[in-house]
Amino acid sequence: MANFKTHLTGGFAVSGVLGLITYKAGLVDAQQFLMCVLAGTVGGLLPDIDSDNSTPIKMGFDFVSLATAFALVIHWRSELSLVSMILLWLAGYGFVRYGVFAIFTRLTVHRGIIHSVPYMLVLALGLTCLNFYIFDIPAIISWFYGSFLLLGSLVHLGLDEAYSVDLLNRRLKRSSGTAMKFYQDSQRYYYLGLYTILLIFIFISPPFEPFFEKLTDPITWWVLKDEILPQVLMRNI
Ligand SMILES: [Zn+2]
Repeated sequence: MANFKTHLTGGFAVSGVLGLITYKAGLVDAQQFLMCVLAGTVGGLLPDIDSDNSTPIKMGFDFVSLATAFALVIHWRSELSLVSMILLWLAGYGFVRYGVFAIFTRLTVHRGIIHSVPYMLVLALGLTCLNFYIFDIPAIISWFYGSFLLLGSLVHLGLDEAYSVDLLNRRLKRSSGTAMKFYQDSQRYYYLGLYTILLIFIFISPPFEPFFEKLTDPITWWVLKDEILPQVLMRNI
């Protein structure tokens, strides 16, 4: 398994380069570019979050709870009275900090379930939905944030996978093939729950087509024609 520093560097480097390409193509503005790199870097650390101790998780939840509470209040600022806003703030904070946290710790009792592809998909879709529904971020940008989180986490899982194979391409005994994990029979009920949550998120996620069309449209990347491999592109014109 690769260590913390490798994951930090890996997630940052990959999301940094891809973020820069996205920024240069004009798909995201400067602030969104930074958010993409941040999401990718955090994603690169997420699969190991339950490994050592629970402090990073608690800190993460404190932060997310506060962010949710403020986002709720800002979102409904014009419709609510001051008292209801305070109540909403407290309810939003309490719900995430204690309610969601309790579900989260339950789901992660068995170490290793976070270290899987479906868990990362859930977190990525969760981030996409959070940005779209709570922070009122446009669908395409929300999808970018979610995608960068997923990208970073896949870099993490890929690095772990690579580190479990030695130079002669023989699998090392201890961590053979556990990195890019989709399912584990010994934790079938947790995975069942996980895939159910994943399905719900897929169902409620913001429209994907505009994001996909934007990414696959050659015009999107046209502005980069002189920047990236100009000789290859120019030959095709
Ligand atoms: Zn790992």
